[in-house]
Amino acid sequence: MSKAAIVTGGTRGIGAAISKALKEAGYEVAANYAGNDDAAKAFTDDTGIKAFKWSVADYDACAEGVKQVQQELGDVAVLVNNAGITRDAMFHKMTPQQWKEVIDTNLTGLFNMTHAVWGGMRDRKFGRVINISSVNGQKGQAGQANYSAAKAGDIGFTRALAQEGARAGITVNAIAPGYIGTEMVRAIDAKVLNERIIPQIPVGRLGEPEEIARCVAFLASEDSGFISGSTISANGAQFFS
Ligand code: NDP
Repeated sequence: MSKAAIVTGGTRGIGAAISKALKEAGYEVAANYAGNDDAAKAFTDDTGIKAFKWSVADYDACAEGVKQVQQELGDVAVLVNNAGITRDAMFHKMTPQQWKEVIDTNLTGLFNMTHAVWGGMRDRKFGRVINISSVNGQKGQAGQANYSAAKAGDIGFTRALAQEGARAGITVNAIAPGYIGTEMVRAIDAKVLNERIIPQIPVGRLGEPEEIARCVAFLASEDSGFISGSTISANGAQFFS
């Protein structure tokens, strides 16, 4: 069976940890990224994992990118939809552009990428699609109406597609991380992070990218075949109803 895996946004942050974990698990990993060539080069030099540049927000670019990965690494057995951005603003100040950029990357990106691999997975009767959502998609977050909507949408997408893939040997699951210590979170004002965010996390710390990567490696494995349509919350015991 093919052991090729694509990790979108796989050169930095959580995605970089996922790419490394899948490589350690024996996959031929393609780490996709959008534009930060320096980070991608440093990642490839460090890990030996090849980086592929295209935007998940561009449907045609995703189809082309997947084709190129398949030519170089083989049929894609695992897709991790991890690429994500934030464009935070309180709703009364949020621009249509901020809304659109986040929806295009964080939600439509899942359609674009999954569409490009789905037919092949169905034909081969095996696939693993793992979508990185967020605790803020589960509970909602002020200042992130765009991001919360996209990440909640990722969970609906996961549940619907799990049902469609079930008879074809394809599992589709989501992981909803809480706050993880990546550049995306370190960009938050330190005072807000230390005085407002971390005190709300019962374990009292940010999560580590590797803690998410280990969940992905499990969901990617053949051992997880009866788990589909699930969302794993990895958030340090944050509770929401
Ligand atoms: P980072 O900002 O550290 O890295 C984002 C990665 O996504 C980069 O590799 C970036 O590429 C890539 N990317 C962004 N836009 C696109 C695009 N249009 N096409 C392809 N690649 C793109 O993010 P994190 O590691 O913090 O987050 C990873 C995922 O986890 C996201 O979906 C995020 O929403 C989610 N998440 C993160 C949490 C956290 O606390 N950090 C909490 C909950 C969820 P480039 O390097 O070229 O810019």
